[in-house]
Amino acid sequence: MNLTALPVSTLREGLRQRRWCVREIVDAQLAEIARVEPSVKAFLHLAEASLRDAAGALDARLERPHAIDALPLAGAVVAVKDAFCTRAMPTTCGSKMLEGYRAPYDATAVERLEAAGALLVGKTNMDEFAMGSSTEHSAYFATRNPYDLTRTPGGSSGGSAAAVAARMAPVALGSDTGGSVRQPAALTGVVGFKPGYGRISRYGLVAFASSLDVVAPFARTVDDVHSVYIALAGRDGRDPTAVEAPVEGGALVAAPLRGLRVGVPREYLGPGVEAAVGDAVAASLALMRAAGAEVIDLSMPHTALAGPCYYVLAPAEASSNLARFDGVRYGLRAPARELLGMYGATRDAGFGDEVKRRILIGTFVLSAGYVDAYYAQAQRARALIADDFVRAFARCDVLVTPTSPTTAFALGARHHDPVAMYQADLCTLPASLAGVPAISLPVGLDGAGLPVGLQLIGPRLGERRLLEIAAAVESLHRQLPPPTL
Ligand code: GLN
Repeated sequence: MNLTALPVSTLREGLRQRRWCVREIVDAQLAEIARVEPSVKAFLHLAEASLRDAAGALDARLERPHAIDALPLAGAVVAVKDAFCTRAMPTTCGSKMLEGYRAPYDATAVERLEAAGALLVGKTNMDEFAMGSSTEHSAYFATRNPYDLTRTPGGSSGGSAAAVAARMAPVALGSDTGGSVRQPAALTGVVGFKPGYGRISRYGLVAFASSLDVVAPFARTVDDVHSVYIALAGRDGRDPTAVEAPVEGGALVAAPLRGLRVGVPREYLGPGVEAAVGDAVAASLALMRAAGAEVIDLSMPHTALAGPCYYVLAPAEASSNLARFDGVRYGLRAPARELLGMYGATRDAGFGDEVKRRILIGTFVLSAGYVDAYYAQAQRARALIADDFVRAFARCDVLVTPTSPTTAFALGARHHDPVAMYQADLCTLPASLAGVPAISLPVGLDGAGLPVGLQLIGPRLGERRLLEIAAAVESLHRQLPPPTL
């Protein structure tokens, strides 16, 4: 039995029936990591020794009858984006600014993973401070797409996506501010689920744009992202923006497709969408229609504002959030003779080009002379975009779009062209700005053997229903062949 290919629910069932133990799962995962990680480069830190210790401890705990009942993620090896604070491992956020930084506490999401019986294997590579769509803005190295090592896995959570795609872990954690889980999920052929804003506590997630940041899981099945979501979601006294609404638990059952109203906003299928992506979306919609769904063509007229709106608001919030990296409180401190010089030298040495670009833009759009023209205007655009969703969900149960306009692009192709890089998230930005849940599912391969992702978007607080629909759509498609590594 190849334990690295199994979903979490099957691994857990095997533990319950004592067909294998946690140590066997962990040994299999570590052997797979040793085999493929040198070519994929998904991890910034690996914690093999502590993972083996945790496996032994969990096996001992599972000796007690029914112990597993309280551990919904028992035996799940998890890779965590290096943007989450962890006591046991460094937290760099992909930046030289935090090289060697050790957080004094665990993020709520990490705490809840471990409380559910999951085991942390390591911290994954990312674009610096989660700014980017290719993982090439990591200050350390670029991660490679397991389906084609000359291409990007997407970003910014590219390390987590690649780890799951390459069978180095069945599930992983990322953060999605404008698409950073859905887009890499699409490019690497895995499932990436961004819950609605506030569903999972952000406590301990290094802040990028606080009104957009969402903790989001990757897995190879909808059922597995659902299990992780259920374990993580819910109020948290340490994050005042975590929503109070109850999270519906229980086994996930695929929704009937008959009679389902599937909205297709035409603005997402413009000329920037590659033919292979458009064809895969059309093929998926045809399967839904054949299963009895009603496909509705609709318009979300403010979609085109999402790019400009996001690239004003996210840098504005980032410029404020990143002010804390001043050489005094965290990580790097550059030598200098006086305080202001030290701030400047530290920020110059610690931040990469993309982060500096965002800080400059953010500071500019918030500056006294321009705040009304840019920041306030972008806030108004955000309200219009959110309104498009309210109107669309009056007519349909779910929205279907491409996740990314293109399949995985070559490493280096957009690295020095910020505007081309920003295009990668045009389909994911609107749901982020509206704060609604969205999921990317793998629906096939293009002519070059690269995965194509389909995005399903649901209304506010509609996570459960969205996942039920996603499970139904998933079952219409053949599973992707694993990458050959
Ligand atoms: N690619 C987008 C950006 O660069 C989104 C990043 C994210 O979701 N963290 O800002």
